[in-house]
Formats: sequence, structure tokens, C-alpha cells
Amino acid sequence: MKKIVLIVLAIVIVIGSVIAIAIGGNNKENAKTKFKVVSSNFASYDFLRAIIGDNKDVELSFLLGPGKDAHSYDPTAQDLIKIQNSDLFVYVGGEMEKWSDKVLESLNTEGNKIVCIADFVETIEEKEIDGAEDDNEHHEEGEEHHEEHKEGAFDEHIWTSPENAIKMITALEKTMEDIDEENANKYKENADKYIEQIKEVDEKIQNIVDNKVRDRLIFADKMPMQYFIDYYNLKVSAAFNGCSSETDPSAKTIAYLENKVREENIPVVLYIELNPGIVARTIANDIGNGCETMQIQTLHNISLDDYRNGETWVSLMTRNIDVLKKALQ
Ligand SMILES: [Zn+2]
Repeated sequence: MKKIVLIVLAIVIVIGSVIAIAIGGNNKENAKTKFKVVSSNFASYDFLRAIIGDNKDVELSFLLGPGKDAHSYDPTAQDLIKIQNSDLFVYVGGEMEKWSDKVLESLNTEGNKIVCIADFVETIEEKEIDGAEDDNEHHEEGEEHHEEHKEGAFDEHIWTSPENAIKMITALEKTMEDIDEENANKYKENADKYIEQIKEVDEKIQNIVDNKVRDRLIFADKMPMQYFIDYYNLKVSAAFNGCSSETDPSAKTIAYLENKVREENIPVVLYIELNPGIVARTIANDIGNGCETMQIQTLHNISLDDYRNGETWVSLMTRNIDVLKKALQ
């Protein structure tokens, strides 16, 4: 299977190179006036977009694209050409982007700047989450929940804490300065402005957390927000660990989550973006008593509508303020 993948990859690269040579002269000309920046995932795309601002000399691409699942994405032939022809390629890596090592090994990226954004934050290992599906024996309250999920696997959802977002922006801004010194001041100014906005959202969320009456969030869904949970020192129960590929939790898991909701008198059951929230509604209906469902933005990816409306890390995280207020206060 692996061999076939490599052969297909090799063919794609050869075709890509032929196309690149065919339009080569033109490309070289553009390369002098235009910097091509490519981001695999939404958060770093959003941060780069803020840093680059209105600089028309930089062409920024969002490889994954809106509305898609980062875990099932594989680069297309055009994507590989985009990576190869980029001046800067930013990716997250890990299990989520397991294609990245293979692709970067096989492409000729000499002279390109390649940035693994996870190198700039303190990564944590994937944790087993209270209540989660492939957790055979449900944890008792108060027990430690951080056994290794997969040996050595880091949790890739690094963008969910404001602290990490700021570290990522700082690193990306320096990288932009390296490739385009002329606009260094502008990049710094844009980055500082965006960091200020992130700090404002952080303060608002922190204020809700400081005044909470309970500290547990219930995700009737995957739970790709561990960095966020840790940063605000919250507790979480979820239907699935991290980004499990499962979509239907067992009756046992649903019963476990419902029990948690009743025990702790939790008013909101959460589901994440790009999910219709059916499991959350099932739980809320079973509980009754005014129990609601709400969508929380994990910024794993952006929906097509939000993308078209120009939503950002800041605007999407701002939506979570009302959600958290309802859930925690
Ligand atoms: Zn994920």
C-alpha cells in the first residue's frame, strides 16, 4: 500500500515538475515580485493573513481549504506544486498531517522556507478524556486522566489556547520578516495589532472563567480543545478522545455523559463546528429541564460560510464567549 502511495506521489511530482518547467519562465519572473506563502491549516493561515495584511506582493494560500476535515485531507497534485513553488510553507505535522513528512522528503523544496508551527509552542501528549468512547473503563471523578493515548503522539490542536496563538503569530511574523525584509515594520505592526485583539478575547474568557459556578464542559463530540481546557484550567468530558474518526458514540458513552450533566447540573451540551450536533441534541432532549445545545468553535477548520464572511481566529473565538458564559456561569 505504502509503495503504491509513493509511486503515485513520484508520478505526481514528475507531472508537477513538467508543468512547472513549462510555465517556468513566467514563475521565476513572478517569484521576484511576489512571495508565495502556503499554510496547511486554518489557524496559521489566519495568523499569516493578519500579519501580511494588505501587502499585495504576498500571495497566501490555505491548502486544506474551508469546510474540510484536516484529518482526512491528503494533498492533491496541485497542492504539491503549490508547496514546491512556495517561498514559505507552514504546517502543523503530527498524526493530523501525517502526509507532511513524506511530501516534504519527496519534493524539491530547496530555497523554500519550511516551518513546522508546532516547533514554536510547548506541545502536550494526547490525553484520554473523561467519558470518551475508546476509554473502556470510565474514569471516576477526581482521577488523573492523562495516560498516553498513542505513544509519542502529540496533540496537534495547538491553536486553541491564546497563549499558543500569540507564540505562533510571533514566530510567523519573524519568518515573514526573514523572507521580506522590506516590509518588516509593517508585519510587526500587523502582528502586534492582532496579538492585542487576541489578548482582549483572552481577558473576556478569563473573566468568565474567574466567575464560573462550575468548571466542566460537556462535548457530545470530538474534543480537540485540550490546550484551551488546560490554559483556562477547566474540566471536560467528551464523547471521543481528541479527533477520533468515530462519529457515533455508544449508548454507554451517552449514558455516561448524561449522568455527568445531571450530577453537575450542566446547562449546555456542546458540539463543534462542521457538525450538525445530533448527539448533543439527543443528550439535551433526554435531560430536558431547559438543557441546551451550543456550538463551540475549536478553530480546527472554518466553515465555508464563515470563510466567505472573512471570519478570523479572533471573531470565531469571540463567539465562544457567550457559549462559555452559558456553560460555566
Ligand atoms: Zn483534530
